[in-house]
Amino acid sequence: MNFLFEFKNFFTKKNVLNFDKTSFVHANNRGIPTPTKEMEKGCGACRECETNCPTSAIKRSGESVLNIDYGKCLQCGNCVEVCPEGKLRNSGFIYTFTLHREEFYTSYKNGKLQKNTLSNFTLTENQKRFRALTHKRGFLYREVAAGGNNTVESELNASFNSVFDSEREGIRCVASPKHADAIVFSGPVSSNMEMPLQVAWDVMSEPKALIACGTEAVSGGLFPKGKIPKEPDLYISGDPPRPDVILQGFRLLLGRFSFQFQEALHKFLESEK
Ligand code: SF4
Ligand code: SF4
Repeated sequence: MNFLFEFKNFFTKKNVLNFDKTSFVHANNRGIPTPTKEMEKGCGACRECETNCPTSAIKRSGESVLNIDYGKCLQCGNCVEVCPEGKLRNSGFIYTFTLHREEFYTSYKNGKLQKNTLSNFTLTENQKRFRALTHKRGFLYREVAAGGNNTVESELNASFNSVFDSEREGIRCVASPKHADAIVFSGPVSSNMEMPLQVAWDVMSEPKALIACGTEAVSGGLFPKGKIPKEPDLYISGDPPRPDVILQGFRLLLGRFSFQFQEALHKFLESEK
């Protein structure tokens, strides 16, 4: 019987995530807040969105400019709920990852994403060296839970299941940082976790990468951000990010996925018109 079962499985269609078909937008997720079309006419500048944002991610500037730091945004939807004029919406855009922290600083004028923020970022020397080592074979990482609430860890666990299947990309989790190519850390890095994170980083051999996973790791989120060994090589925002978002972020670092946050967001907003 077992033989027949295995034989049947051989012809069954795989359910594994197809990276070529994943989308920036997910119907069941709030995603990041973006201005609605109504914002073209400006808004009353009541600043309710700003006052009610738990992480100070959103700021009004004058009557027509809205600045949002998506590295601070928890995708909680508060700003959308409190806007009395319906000028904000939950966009469903979930691909919030970047190789450069500055890419998350986003500015809208009269509801339009400012093109001058679509800079061409180049890879740092460390990102280049890490990519050269890992592009073909993937990488091993040690996860450090640095004062978070375990939601990121749940999503990282899910990234190894048969749907997301992290290991097919050669991306695996290891028990010791001595065996790892990268550190993936979550949480705002509480004072008690600053030293363990630094020690884990110091024992790794070069080239190595530091990956901030989750809004708290990127910016501290609701908490003050602790000291980290160096500027991360990859930032994955979201509270927590979905497993497919995490994996696409890892693939970006490996050079297997071409993506720029601001450019993708711009295309997405244009396609919505
Ligand atoms: S954290 Fe919440 S309130 Fe603040 S910008 Fe993001 S979705 Fe809006
Ligand atoms: S809450 Fe709405 S109307 Fe008030 S400042 Fe923010 S976007 Fe403008």
